[in-house]
Amino acid sequence: MSDLRELYQEVILDHHKRPRNFGPLQEANRHAEGRNPLCGDHLSVQVDVEGGIIKDVAFEGAGCAISRASASLMTDAVKGKPVEEAERMFEEFHQMVTSGVEVAVEESLGKLAVFCGVREFPSRVKCASLAWHTLHAALEEKSGTASTE
Ligand code: ZN
Repeated sequence: MSDLRELYQEVILDHHKRPRNFGPLQEANRHAEGRNPLCGDHLSVQVDVEGGIIKDVAFEGAGCAISRASASLMTDAVKGKPVEEAERMFEEFHQMVTSGVEVAVEESLGKLAVFCGVREFPSRVKCASLAWHTLHAALEEKSGTASTE
């Protein structure tokens, strides 16, 4: 288990240092802001949805290593996927970081499983799930700011 944890830690640090899909998205037709006042994380997620598919997705903003790494891994995970599938991943991710997770969920989330350890740190759960709440708000076309509070 400790080897696995080290690996997870490495993945998180790597995505924090070199976030994927970071920057403005020219073609975006959905957008939402997300804030986690508890930690000070602030993200904006931009999505280009065409024909029910997430054609492209990017994020900007500043936050702690966990919130940045989670946004980076999330954009990688949902790019090219149907909106419905991204919403299902949001549900599964949320389930994984807030409660005990079944192995099946962990497997279906792939790399996102690196965040399964945060459920032991309740204050970090919001950092890890901020990007997902923000994506969810963008896909629902809710205006305003998503907040973890
Ligand atoms: Zn944070």
